[in-house]
Amino acid sequence: MDEVSRARALVAEAHRIVVLTGAGISTESGIADFRGPQGVWTKDPAAEKLATLSHYMSSADARKTAWQKRLATTVWSAEPNAGHRALVRLEQAGKLHTLVTQNIDGLHQRAGNDRQRIIEIHGTLHEVVCMSCGDRGPMSETLERVRAGEEDPPCRKCNGILKSATISFGQSLVLEDLQRAEQAAIRCDLFMAIGTKLSVFPVAGLVPVAKRRGAKIIIVNAEPTDMDELADEIVRGSIGEMLPRIVEVE
Ligand code: ZN
Repeated sequence: MDEVSRARALVAEAHRIVVLTGAGISTESGIADFRGPQGVWTKDPAAEKLATLSHYMSSADARKTAWQKRLATTVWSAEPNAGHRALVRLEQAGKLHTLVTQNIDGLHQRAGNDRQRIIEIHGTLHEVVCMSCGDRGPMSETLERVRAGEEDPPCRKCNGILKSATISFGQSLVLEDLQRAEQAAIRCDLFMAIGTKLSVFPVAGLVPVAKRRGAKIIIVNAEPTDMDELADEIVRGSIGEMLPRIVEVE
């Protein structure tokens, strides 16, 4: 039996699956990852600085540049791919308990996974948040203001600084989201990590949490990850090709 067949057997036996996804599941939708060879930050180190909260808050120029990048990102035209769709089938089969994603692109929702099951641990690019009053709204409305000429549109309620509702460097994760993800990892019988190097904590720590509680671990990623030694099965290769074969559910 090859590793895909063995991984499929683990999925068939499981009743309560937690999936963690990273940038690798969205690269086949045309969304660049951050630290890979073609990554956003690899090719443009200044962009990494823009993602630092203190820099964003202190520099109007940084915010202008950030708004232009938000206008231009490929996220708005990206479509879910075969990897995203495979996770919808896993949910339809009644096996997917929680889908934790490090991605901010909203493609799991677009593919059709139940929003209630999705934890966007690094936030979402589809909303903006006011850094002063906490007011939230759709990104599309704020981008309309940028298109109409506002270079750094302020909050309409309090004039505070607006930012995408993503977790920047120097910004804490949402505690409630993290706790929900940990509880899901504690109670699952199979944990699948897909398209992530498992190098960013605390999210990567969900893998050992699940393992200690007796869950099986499947890792699907093009490259080796930092948690490979904990895996029961490792599947390398294109996620869009591999994942549909692994979660083949009748
Ligand atoms: Zn405000």
